[in-house]
Amino acid sequence: MERSNIEIEKDHEGYVIFRTTCECGVENHSIKVIVDEEMGIPIATLFFECGWRDEWKAKWWKILWRRLKCACFLLFKGHLYLDEDFIFRSGEHLEDFLHALEQASEQVRKGWERKQKKDEKTA
Ligand SMILES: [Zn+2]
Repeated sequence: MERSNIEIEKDHEGYVIFRTTCECGVENHSIKVIVDEEMGIPIATLFFECGWRDEWKAKWWKILWRRLKCACFLLFKGHLYLDEDFIFRSGEHLEDFLHALEQASEQVRKGWERKQKKDEKTA
Protein backbone atom coordinates (compact mmCIF):
# COMPACT_ATOMS: atom_id res chain seq x y z
CA MET A 1 0.00 0.00 0.00
CA GLU A 2 1.32 3.42 -0.98
CA ARG A 3 1.91 5.77 1.95
CA SER A 4 1.51 9.37 0.80
CA ASN A 5 3.44 10.92 3.69
CA ILE A 6 6.56 8.79 3.20
CA GLU A 7 9.12 9.06 0.41
CA ILE A 8 11.12 5.89 -0.21
CA GLU A 9 14.61 6.06 -1.70
CA LYS A 10 16.80 3.12 -2.59
CA ASP A 11 20.42 3.66 -3.43
CA HIS A 12 22.68 1.57 -5.64
CA GLU A 13 24.06 -0.42 -2.70
CA GLY A 14 20.60 -1.54 -1.58
CA TYR A 15 20.14 0.89 1.28
CA VAL A 16 16.54 1.91 1.86
CA ILE A 17 15.61 5.33 3.18
CA PHE A 18 12.11 6.24 4.36
CA ARG A 19 11.77 10.03 4.61
CA THR A 20 8.98 12.15 5.98
CA THR A 21 8.81 15.92 6.31
CA CYS A 22 7.61 18.11 9.13
CA GLU A 23 4.34 20.03 8.96
CA CYS A 24 6.07 23.30 9.94
CA GLY A 25 7.03 23.95 6.31
CA VAL A 26 10.80 24.21 6.67
CA GLU A 27 12.08 22.43 3.57
CA ASN A 28 14.88 20.38 5.14
CA HIS A 29 13.13 19.55 8.42
CA SER A 30 12.63 15.82 8.17
CA ILE A 31 13.14 12.40 9.70
CA LYS A 32 14.78 9.59 7.78
CA VAL A 33 14.66 5.92 8.73
CA ILE A 34 17.73 4.42 7.08
CA VAL A 35 18.13 0.67 6.66
CA ASP A 36 21.76 -0.13 6.12
CA GLU A 37 24.58 -2.48 7.00
CA GLU A 38 27.47 -1.46 9.22
CA MET A 39 30.43 -3.85 8.86
CA GLY A 40 28.07 -6.60 7.71
CA ILE A 41 25.57 -6.03 10.54
CA PRO A 42 22.05 -4.99 9.47
CA ILE A 43 20.94 -1.81 11.26
CA ALA A 44 18.25 0.83 11.13
CA THR A 45 19.08 4.43 11.94
CA LEU A 46 16.86 7.43 12.65
CA PHE A 47 18.31 10.57 11.11
CA PHE A 48 16.82 13.91 12.11
CA GLU A 49 17.39 17.00 10.04
CA CYS A 50 16.92 20.17 12.01
CA GLY A 51 18.36 23.62 11.73
CA TRP A 52 18.92 26.98 13.23
CA ARG A 53 16.28 29.66 13.02
CA ASP A 54 15.93 32.96 14.76
CA GLU A 55 13.02 33.24 17.14
CA TRP A 56 9.99 34.56 15.41
CA LYS A 57 8.99 38.08 16.51
CA ALA A 58 11.99 38.43 18.85
CA LYS A 59 13.63 41.82 19.30
CA TRP A 60 16.79 42.28 17.20
CA TRP A 61 19.11 42.51 20.21
CA LYS A 62 17.71 39.24 21.62
CA ILE A 63 18.29 37.56 18.25
CA LEU A 64 21.85 38.89 18.13
CA TRP A 65 22.54 37.86 21.75
CA ARG A 66 21.28 34.30 21.07
CA ARG A 67 23.44 34.03 17.94
CA LEU A 68 26.55 35.29 19.78
CA LYS A 69 25.93 33.03 22.78
CA CYS A 70 25.59 29.93 20.59
CA ALA A 71 28.56 30.89 18.40
CA CYS A 72 30.76 31.39 21.49
CA PHE A 73 29.57 28.12 22.98
CA LEU A 74 30.52 26.31 19.79
CA LEU A 75 33.81 28.21 19.47
CA PHE A 76 35.00 27.61 23.05
CA LYS A 77 33.29 24.34 24.01
CA GLY A 78 33.50 22.62 20.62
CA HIS A 79 29.94 21.35 20.51
CA LEU A 80 26.42 22.67 20.31
CA TYR A 81 23.21 20.74 20.78
CA LEU A 82 20.06 21.82 19.05
CA ASP A 83 16.57 20.49 19.41
CA GLU A 84 13.47 21.10 17.45
CA ASP A 85 9.90 19.87 17.35
CA PHE A 86 8.76 17.58 14.58
CA ILE A 87 5.10 18.03 13.72
CA PHE A 88 3.02 15.20 12.25
CA ARG A 89 0.29 16.79 10.17
CA SER A 90 -2.36 14.14 10.92
CA GLY A 91 -3.04 10.74 12.39
CA GLU A 92 -2.50 9.32 8.90
CA HIS A 93 0.95 10.94 8.74
CA LEU A 94 1.84 9.34 12.08
CA GLU A 95 0.45 5.96 10.95
CA ASP A 96 2.48 6.20 7.74
CA PHE A 97 5.62 6.86 9.81
CA LEU A 98 4.85 3.87 12.05
CA HIS A 99 4.38 1.78 8.90
CA ALA A 100 7.81 2.92 7.66
CA LEU A 101 9.32 1.85 11.01
CA GLU A 102 7.65 -1.56 10.64
CA GLN A 103 9.02 -1.90 7.11
CA ALA A 104 12.49 -0.95 8.36
CA SER A 105 12.18 -3.50 11.16
CA GLU A 106 11.19 -6.19 8.65
CA GLN A 107 14.15 -5.36 6.40
CA VAL A 108 16.60 -5.46 9.32
CA ARG A 109 15.15 -8.84 10.36
CA LYS A 110 15.59 -10.16 6.79
CA GLY A 111 19.14 -8.78 6.76
CA TRP A 112 19.92 -10.74 9.93
CA GLU A 113 18.46 -13.91 8.37
CA ARG A 114 20.69 -13.43 5.28
CA LYS A 115 23.70 -12.83 7.53
CA GLN A 116 23.02 -15.98 9.58
CA LYS A 117 22.69 -18.11 6.41
CA LYS A 118 25.91 -16.62 5.05
CA ASP A 119 27.70 -17.24 8.38
CA GLU A 120 26.44 -20.86 8.45
CA LYS A 121 27.82 -21.48 4.94
CA THR A 122 31.24 -20.13 5.84
CA ALA A 123 31.45 -22.00 9.21
ZN1 LIG B 1 9.40 21.38 11.50
